[in-house]
Amino acid sequence: RYKPKWAFHQKKDTNQQLALGNFDAFYKPHYGNDWPSIRISLLSLPKYCAVINKYGKESQTKLLKKFSLINFTENARLLNEMKTQEMPDSKYARNLAPEPLTNSEPVTENLTLESEVVDYDESVHKDNLNIFVPTQQVYTEKEQMLKEEMKLNSFQASDIGIKVLAPEAVNISADIEALIFPSGNISLFPHPKSKFGMYGFYLMDAASVLPVVALDIQPTDHVLDLCAAPGGKTFVMLQSLDLFHGGKLLCNDSSQSRINRLKDVLRSHFPPDIVDQVTVTNFDGLQTFTPVYNKVLVDVPCNGDRYVLTEEDNNLFQISRTHERLKLMKTQKQLLISAIKSCAVGGNIVYSTCTLSPAQNDGVIQAVMEELWQMSHIEVAVVDLTPMTELFQETFKFHDKTRYGKQVLPNLLNNFGPTYFAKLKRIK
Ligand code: SAM
Repeated sequence: RYKPKWAFHQKKDTNQQLALGNFDAFYKPHYGNDWPSIRISLLSLPKYCAVINKYGKESQTKLLKKFSLINFTENARLLNEMKTQEMPDSKYARNLAPEPLTNSEPVTENLTLESEVVDYDESVHKDNLNIFVPTQQVYTEKEQMLKEEMKLNSFQASDIGIKVLAPEAVNISADIEALIFPSGNISLFPHPKSKFGMYGFYLMDAASVLPVVALDIQPTDHVLDLCAAPGGKTFVMLQSLDLFHGGKLLCNDSSQSRINRLKDVLRSHFPPDIVDQVTVTNFDGLQTFTPVYNKVLVDVPCNGDRYVLTEEDNNLFQISRTHERLKLMKTQKQLLISAIKSCAVGGNIVYSTCTLSPAQNDGVIQAVMEELWQMSHIEVAVVDLTPMTELFQETFKFHDKTRYGKQVLPNLLNNFGPTYFAKLKRIK
């Protein structure tokens, strides 16, 4: 009999191939016709933005002057002003009844587990009552894994315990200035130089600026950045916060090595007296912080879609990390619950990820809202971010099927994202 010699002849998939295979299986059914264009964008070089550091040396920002760049945050601010002037009594103020968020189609997976074709045990057939009792299903280990994968990648929309607030007036802090090359232009930014002192700008995915814009940091806010390292969003928040006049910032991360990177980012962008005012902790974010914060950012660990398609080392899709990966959704839920518990009543929480996985995005918001509604006295509502994202439509392609949050889809003209962000308000 012919016996294939797997170990010698079959090439093993790389971790990046495993990740791509997983995305093809689970994202394609959700994103449908958009998937080929998202896929090619994910596999292409990402585009960055330069966020101006108001504490940096001006000589550094001069580096950027020779390019014709678009200040997309400034453009959104101008558009916002125009819209507000067009409607003096503000369309948002008039919108007393919450507008329903668009329902996403429940994701129907093409994948069926063989053991899910329910098998009825006729030996327990109750003659008179005519009841069939299903036998207990036994899943193979492989099927169990596939079930977990399906959980991690799709969710069924429900309305249990979900309250949606009427859209609020949008505010985009004038302190956030983010520059990009025009649509279709894939030029690279020069790296900021450090020899003149603090860096004049910070390069990051432009879509990562949006969760911070959604949190709407005011100078005197008390901010908790629960998963802060390496500090890109912390950098943006510090442009608006005033730590000398009432503002407070606590940056936490469970990884010591990443905390070190965060400290480097702080030291190389902000004067020492500001750095001294930032509290940095190295706790597991699953523990609750005293709820004295009115703004909480929880930028959770996730699939990291772009990273796993381009980096072979330390890749979450390597077989030895499967269990860790399948635990992600549970960790995300726990981190969001911890963020909500650490937020003062009346405050806001922004949850964000850099994955396209629906279950790690809307799925986590829904699961947490349901759980809090059923098991605690805490009351939370979703804030509709539509008015905000409408201001950024020139720059980003937003997914039209999200239910609670907003999602930037990578596209070749402006290859940003993926980024998902949802805003919650703690009511009780
Ligand atoms: N907000 C960061 C930024 O903008 O640069 C990126 C955060 S990254 C997506 C997720 C972070 O969560 C990682 O730095 C990781 O170390 C941290 N993390 C993972 N599990 C955590 C936990 N249980 N508690 C706190 N931080 C955690």
